[in-house]
Amino acid sequence: MRTGWQTLTDLVLGADRRVRERVRLSMIAVWGYAVSSVLLVYAMHIGLVARGPGEGLMVYMWVGMTTFYALVRSNWSTRLGSPGMDLPQCLYALGAILFAYAITGPVRSSVLMMIALVLVFGMFTLSARQVFIMGASTVLGLGAVMLAMVRFDPVTFDPRLELIKFVLAASTLPAVSAVAFYVAQVRARLVQQKAELRHALDLLQEIATRDELTGLVNRRHMLALIDQEMQRQQRTGEGFCLAIIDLDHFKRINDQHGHLAGDAALRHFADTARQVLRQTDTLARWGGEEFLLMLPSPDPGPAGAEQALSRIRDALQASPVADIALRLGFSAGVTDHPVGEPLDATLERADHALYAAKAAGRQRTEVLPAPAREPRGRPLVAQPHL
Ligand code: GH3
Ligand code: MG
Ligand code: MG
Repeated sequence: MRTGWQTLTDLVLGADRRVRERVRLSMIAVWGYAVSSVLLVYAMHIGLVARGPGEGLMVYMWVGMTTFYALVRSNWSTRLGSPGMDLPQCLYALGAILFAYAITGPVRSSVLMMIALVLVFGMFTLSARQVFIMGASTVLGLGAVMLAMVRFDPVTFDPRLELIKFVLAASTLPAVSAVAFYVAQVRARLVQQKAELRHALDLLQEIATRDELTGLVNRRHMLALIDQEMQRQQRTGEGFCLAIIDLDHFKRINDQHGHLAGDAALRHFADTARQVLRQTDTLARWGGEEFLLMLPSPDPGPAGAEQALSRIRDALQASPVADIALRLGFSAGVTDHPVGEPLDATLERADHALYAAKAAGRQRTEVLPAPAREPRGRPLVAQPHL
C-alpha cells in the first residue's frame, strides 16, 4: 500500500526514476537559494543591503529556482536538449552570486564561497567541456562585476583591494575548475566503461544461451527453461508438452550438397519454425539435427503440439531450402510432462515416440502420452498412440 509520504515524494520528485534523480540534484540549488534568502532578509533587516536590490535578487533567485524545478520535474528540459538543465542552472546560480557580490557591501567576499557549492554541483553533473565553460564564465563574470563596481561605486569598492581579490579568485578558480574537469572526465570514462561492460555481458549472455548456427535456444539454456517451467508447474499444477524433432535423411543433404548446405538447411529449419510457432513456445537446438520444442501448459495438450508441428511441416513444404531447392521433412515424438515426473523420464518417452515415427516411415509425428497415474501414484504402463 502507498503511504502518504510516497505520494508526497512522487508529487514533488516525480514517479519516473530518471526524473527523480535530476530533481533531487536540483534540490541542492534549492538549499543554496533557501539559505541565501534567509540571510538576505536578515541583511536587509539590519540595513546591510538596500531594499530595492535585495528584493530584486530575491525575485531573481526564486523565479529561476521555480522555473528550473518546473522544467526538470515536467521533463520539458529533455525537449530543450538538457534533461538536468545542469549548465544553465550553474550559470544562473553564478549570476545570483555575482548579483549578491555587487550588493552585499562589506560581506561580499564571503558570498564568493557559494561559488564552491556551484562548482561541486558541476563536478558531478557537468561534462568536461561544460566545466570549462563554467570556470571561464566564473573568472570573466567576476572580473566584469568587479570592474563595473569599481567604476560605479568607487566609495565601497576600492580598486586596490578588488585587484587582490580578483587575482586570488582568478588563480584559485582555474585550479578548482581543473579538479572538476578531471572528475568530469573520470565520470565520462566510467559511463563509457559501464556501457561496454553491459554490452560484453549481453554478448556473454547471448553466447551462453543461444546456438550459434541457428540462433535458437541452446541445449544448456533449454534445460534451465524446462526447469523453470517445472517449478511453475509445481505451483499451478498445469503441465506442459515436449516434442523431439529429428530431420529426416539429413545425412543425405550433407553427402550430396556438402556440409555448408547442411548448415544452411539447419538455419532454414530454425527460421521457418520460428515464424509459425507461438511466442510462448520454445524451440531449442538439442544437438546435431535434433530440436526440442517445449509447449507450456497443456493447452490443448499433445493435440496442440501436433498442430504446432504440422504448421512447421506445412511451412517447410511451402518453402524449399534456397540454393539446393530441397524440401525438409522431419519426424517428431510428442509427450506431456506430468507434475513430479523426472525430466529424464519425459525425454525418454518423447524419444520412444520419435523412434516410432521414424520406424513408421518418417515425416510424421507420434504421441506417447504420460502414463495415467493411479490414485496412490503408481503409474500405469503407457501405450504408444500410433
Ligand atoms: P534419419 O532420417 O534417420 O534421422 O536420417 P539422418 O540422415 O538424419 O540420420 P542421422 O540422424 O543419423 O544423421 C544426422 C546427421 O546430421 C549426421 C551429421 O553429420 C549431421 N549433422 C549434425 N550436426 C550438423 C551440423 O551442425 N551441420 C551439418 N551440416 N550437419 C550436421
Ligand atoms: Mg539425428
Ligand atoms: Mg535425422
